[in-house]
Amino acid sequence: MFLSRTVTIFCTTVLILLSQTLCTFGSVPNVVILFADDLGYGDLGCYGHPTSHTPNIDNLAVNGLRFTQFYSANPLCSPSRASLLTGRLPPRTGVWPGVFLPESTGGLPHNETTLAQILKGKGYATAIVGKWHLGIGRNQEYLPIHYGFDSYYGIPYSQDFCPCLKCFYPNDPCFNQCDLYYTGCPLFKDDKIIEQPTDFTKLEDKYIEHATNFIASSASKGTPFFLYYAFNHVHHPQFAGKRYRNSTSRGTFGDSLAELDNGVGMVMQQLQKSGVEGNTLVIFTSDNGPSLRNENRGGNGGLLKCGKGTTYEGGQRVPAIAYWPGKIQPGKTMELTSTLDLLPTIANLVNGTLPNVTLDGVDIGPVLFEKGKSKRDTFFYIFAYADPKYPIYAVRHKQYKAHYYTEGSSNCDFTHDLDCRPTANRTAHNPPLLYDLNSDPSEQYDLSSDPNYASVLKELDEIRRKFAAELDWAPAEILKPSDPNVEPCCNPGCSPRPSCCHC
Ligand code: MG
Repeated sequence: MFLSRTVTIFCTTVLILLSQTLCTFGSVPNVVILFADDLGYGDLGCYGHPTSHTPNIDNLAVNGLRFTQFYSANPLCSPSRASLLTGRLPPRTGVWPGVFLPESTGGLPHNETTLAQILKGKGYATAIVGKWHLGIGRNQEYLPIHYGFDSYYGIPYSQDFCPCLKCFYPNDPCFNQCDLYYTGCPLFKDDKIIEQPTDFTKLEDKYIEHATNFIASSASKGTPFFLYYAFNHVHHPQFAGKRYRNSTSRGTFGDSLAELDNGVGMVMQQLQKSGVEGNTLVIFTSDNGPSLRNENRGGNGGLLKCGKGTTYEGGQRVPAIAYWPGKIQPGKTMELTSTLDLLPTIANLVNGTLPNVTLDGVDIGPVLFEKGKSKRDTFFYIFAYADPKYPIYAVRHKQYKAHYYTEGSSNCDFTHDLDCRPTANRTAHNPPLLYDLNSDPSEQYDLSSDPNYASVLKELDEIRRKFAAELDWAPAEILKPSDPNVEPCCNPGCSPRPSCCHC
């Protein structure tokens, strides 16, 4: 009797262990990308900001892998987002020059393959919550549900492309009124407008609800999922609900960032509640560097030069954290990496099919999972308003960066550094400005006239020439003629616009 019971218990235990092992080996991980907007290298507590309140992101950094040399593919929203989802630089995706406007008729070309489509092909449930900014189109043909996302819930562009009148609870005005001639910010559910104008003071709570419901329902069905949570925070104008108004000592930017951080915390809490935290790769990063306009209401690039819109380090080197308990060892990596690398890395991780096109990303799995070296040793900086006549503004190879052209940006008009401001017109440099980013991440000490670096300059120039000759330029989607009828209105055909677009 005793022996039989012991054998039964032993066999049951073996079966449970075996089934758990098979489940672990047989399952594919969930993927969550948390994408901040205009968040600078120096904005987070875990990247050294003295007064930001970001406990949830800081917790990811402590228990995950924090990157110090991670680059967004471009210093502006639309091209950067296209590159995140395709693993390709803006000239190849056609998402250039600049950004899509509410009346733009172009969008991410349908022949591009997105990460959502790759994961969909592996049976994933897919959702995007938040800012899209890859076009709307005349027949809404560029909304996310046409790119592998099962569902969309969010505002399809930046919230300063709307008249923004109330940004903080209960009735505090925004810093300025943004673009009054546009219709109110539309909140889309899939391809339908469900609220216009969007109430910013309640927006993040709605995003959180959709994101957490998606995680809960996918996990309960045992379906692997991909969540792309693209925050409207901390793009101008800053906004936040009641709980975050005046909640920090960093002013409106700090309040807005604290609300973003809460969104990160709520997603992480839901992963735990749903029992899938141990089988989920979470990536947190930003689409470009900080906006240095609107006085102290903008972000902070920390020790990096300039910010959004420029090809200096502050424009494109961004905070990034990868988190996956048990798979990614906590720590810091200085390996050269980029948002371009996420598509090939995640596709390989799930044994997905890579598109048959030239990718600009590399698989950084060894950096994530083995504390290994990055396959990337070069990064090409393409200006925000890309132009085939000046295809590559700067090149980084290993620790050296050469600037062949520099240009300021309207996104940096409140910084003391004149090189960053919109008055700094495009300037060609021959020889290029040369910096050793390992010893001089702030790009202060130009080495180009030092004869000891002649061979470095020669090598960088060869790399640049070769890449510029190979780089394909798809037709510029952002230059397609605009059409005011494309601008979202919940009451189509009404008048007078924009005020009648109110539902
Ligand atoms: Mg942005």
